[in-house]
Amino acid sequence: MNCSEIQDLAAALVDHEPLNMHDLDEVEAHLKSCPSCQYEYEMDLMTSHIVRARIPLVDAPREAYLSIREAIEDY
Ligand SMILES: [Zn+2]
Repeated sequence: MNCSEIQDLAAALVDHEPLNMHDLDEVEAHLKSCPSCQYEYEMDLMTSHIVRARIPLVDAPREAYLSIREAIEDY
């Protein structure tokens, strides 16, 4: 497998798509030996964490957020 194939599989892994054991082994072995794929994988992981963590904030109306902030500051 080349780097771009590994990165495709690694991205699938970040999205919690099931990989077969063989692919998983190859991706893990490759990530250990290839810094650029490792970097891509970590960036993907971080991005997916940030996106997930921000969903509740994005869903809350801005007015609600501001009035909560004001209430905290007044207190
Ligand atoms: Zn690679």
